[in-house]
Amino acid sequence: MEIQTTTQTELIDITERVNDIVKDSGIKEGICIITTRHTTTSIIINENEKGLKNDLLEMLETLIPENKNYAHNQVDNNGHSHLRAMFLGMSAMVPIEKGNLILGTWQTIFFVELDGPGNRTIDIKILES
Ligand code: ZN
Repeated sequence: MEIQTTTQTELIDITERVNDIVKDSGIKEGICIITTRHTTTSIIINENEKGLKNDLLEMLETLIPENKNYAHNQVDNNGHSHLRAMFLGMSAMVPIEKGNLILGTWQTIFFVELDGPGNRTIDIKILES
């Protein structure tokens, strides 16, 4: 799955696109694994609520501030982006039942851009059980 991000830091809801891929696969029971190919992006699952998304960005800035003298900044000036990506993780796993992703009412699959904008690649792997 290709995704074009538009700002430096952003959360993009990819639930619908992942669900479409699961449906197209025809697999009824199994596990869906969503991974990002980049070292400055993440995959997370949580509620799609504006305030909460702002809270997350604020927490990242508090825990891993952008303007700090990271050793990696001598290479390409995005130490904070890598550390934030490590903190949030690069994958998520969701069970599939009766051809649908099993997610709670408030659970949304997000692709998190931490060093955008850019053209990004997400891999969706479905294991049948
Ligand atoms: Zn870097």
